[in-house]
Amino acid sequence: LFAGETDFLKGVVAMDGLPPADRLEVCFAGRSNVGKSSLINALTGRKGLARASNTPGRTQEINYFTTLGGPFLVDLPGYGYAEAPLPVVEKWQRLLKAYLSGRQTLRRAFVLIDARHGVKAVDEEIMALLDSAAVTFQVVLTKADKVKAKDRDKVLNQVRAALSNHPAAYPELVVTSSEKGDGIATLRAIIAGIE
Ligand code: GDP
Repeated sequence: LFAGETDFLKGVVAMDGLPPADRLEVCFAGRSNVGKSSLINALTGRKGLARASNTPGRTQEINYFTTLGGPFLVDLPGYGYAEAPLPVVEKWQRLLKAYLSGRQTLRRAFVLIDARHGVKAVDEEIMALLDSAAVTFQVVLTKADKVKAKDRDKVLNQVRAALSNHPAAYPELVVTSSEKGDGIATLRAIIAGIE
């Protein structure tokens, strides 16, 4: 599904630019700098595939990647940049809403949460959006190598408490480190099993 067979397909800025919905897809969402590009690169085994999205004001594109015989991997722009101009934020939110509620083949969203920081207000907003669009979402903790086990457990408890308020949340979390490779095989298997 992933080994050397993942490719960039296209960047999308409007609903009419989405590729034909001829297969299932999963998407990745998270605050800027959460480690989303690193995770997609680790999952696919291709270092430069997803580029770091942490430039304020950078074009807000939904990036599509193909996998061999598997779902599209869809990289949503990082959110939570206070510096982004309001019209840009609003345009992005309209596209995000339209995408999440209108894409029939979207099977799951992975919401990335930094293992050091836990769920923030902007993450809550995305989760609420996923609830109202009835898109099942699963939390992926990132950068697990950066926290001690004890602190990570605190964050895990905070995340679980936050998830209990979200009907679309999938109960099982995945703890990952793109740096060390932790949880990457698990996440690949989850994606491969999506139907
Ligand atoms: P994005 O903005 O969400 O795409 O985040 P990036 O993937 O560009 O990562 C942001 C920063 O966090 C970069 O400096 C990465 O090297 C670092 N980073 C990402 N994942 C990990 C990880 O698993 N462990 C560690 N230690 N650093 C990471």
